[in-house]
Amino acid sequence: MKAFVMPEVGQTDIVEKPIPQPGPNDVIVKTTHALICTSDVHTVKGALPVANGVTLGHEALGVIHAIGSAVTGFTEGQRVAVNAVTPCFECRYCQTGYTSQCGGPLGGYQYTAQRDGNMAEYFVVPHAKANLAPIPDDISSEAAVYACDMLSTGFMGAEHCYLRLGDTAAVFAQGAVGLSATIGLSLLGASRIFAVESVPNRQELSKAYGATDIIDFSEGDAVEQIREATDGEGVDAAVEALGFPQTWESCLRVTKAGGRVSNIGYHGENPNPLQVPLDAFGLGMADKSIHSGLCPGGNDRMQRIFALIRTGRFDPTRMTTHTFAFDDVGDGFRMMRDKEDGIIKPLITF
Ligand SMILES: [Zn+2]
Ligand SMILES: [Zn+2]
Repeated sequence: MKAFVMPEVGQTDIVEKPIPQPGPNDVIVKTTHALICTSDVHTVKGALPVANGVTLGHEALGVIHAIGSAVTGFTEGQRVAVNAVTPCFECRYCQTGYTSQCGGPLGGYQYTAQRDGNMAEYFVVPHAKANLAPIPDDISSEAAVYACDMLSTGFMGAEHCYLRLGDTAAVFAQGAVGLSATIGLSLLGASRIFAVESVPNRQELSKAYGATDIIDFSEGDAVEQIREATDGEGVDAAVEALGFPQTWESCLRVTKAGGRVSNIGYHGENPNPLQVPLDAFGLGMADKSIHSGLCPGGNDRMQRIFALIRTGRFDPTRMTTHTFAFDDVGDGFRMMRDKEDGIIKPLITF
C-alpha cells in the first residue's frame, strides 16, 4: 500500500508499506477520505519526537478491510470512522474520564506519535470496540471526516467554556478548529460570539457558523475592540485556537472576573513559557479558570457529532476549501504549511 510519511524532519514523501495485519483488538480500515491537519505540519517541523519514516495523518475514515479476532459487532465493508485520539478506555486515566491522557500525558494520541498515522491506503484502529465509529448511512464521508478531529476538538474547546445560556464568548482564530469551536459555542447557547480573525473567507464562514461579531485584529487590538463592544466588561469565556503567546494572553485579558479560558491551541512551537498577566488574573484571585485539553475520542462522542451533522445543525463540508487525490497529498500538505490560496482544510480522496 502507499503511505504518506515523514522520512526525516522537514521532509514528506509517499512510500510503499505492507498492508497492516490486525491484532486481536484491532480493525484494519481501507481509507476512502482523509483531511490534512495543521498538527501534521507541526510534526514535520519537528515539534513532536516521532520516528523517521512514520506515516502522517490522524483524520481518516473508510471501510472495514479486516477484523481482529476479539472484535465483535462489525462487518467487513462497513463504512466507519475513527477519532484522531484512540484511548484504551481501560487504564486508570481512562477510567477517571481523562481518555485523551490514556496511560499518561497526551497518551491517547497514538497516530503518528506512537504508531503509524492514517494518511495511507490502509490503517489500524486500535482498541476497535471502543474507538471504531460506524457512519450513519445518511451522512456523507466528506462531512463525517470532520468528526475525527476538527469538530471533536473544537467542541471540546466550547465545552470547556462551561457556558450558561446567554453567556458571551470570544474565539481567537477561525481556522478549522476555531470555526468548530464557534459552532459549538453557538449550539451551547452563547448570546454573543466574538470571532477574532482577519482572513475574509474565514470571517464569512465564521458568521455562517454562528459568530455574532467579527473582530479583525488587523484593525486594532482585539481585546480592546471586544471590551468596547461589551461596555468595557469583556466576555464570560475565551477559546484560544491558535497556539500563540499573544492570543493566549488576550484570552486572559478579555475574560471578565469569573471567566473561563479554554485552550485548544498547540503551544509546542513557542520557545518560551506562556505568561499569565497578573492584572488579568486578579493577582491570582479573579475566580478565573484555565482548562486545557486534547481531542476526546471514542465511538460515543463520534456518534453524538454525527447526530448533529445528520440533523443539519451545520454543514462541516464548507470548511473544505481544496480537494486532492492521494497521489497529490504532498501538494495539499505544502499548501496547508504555507497557508496558500485561502486554504482552510484540504480533503484527500483515495
Ligand atoms: Zn488533526
Ligand atoms: Zn487508557
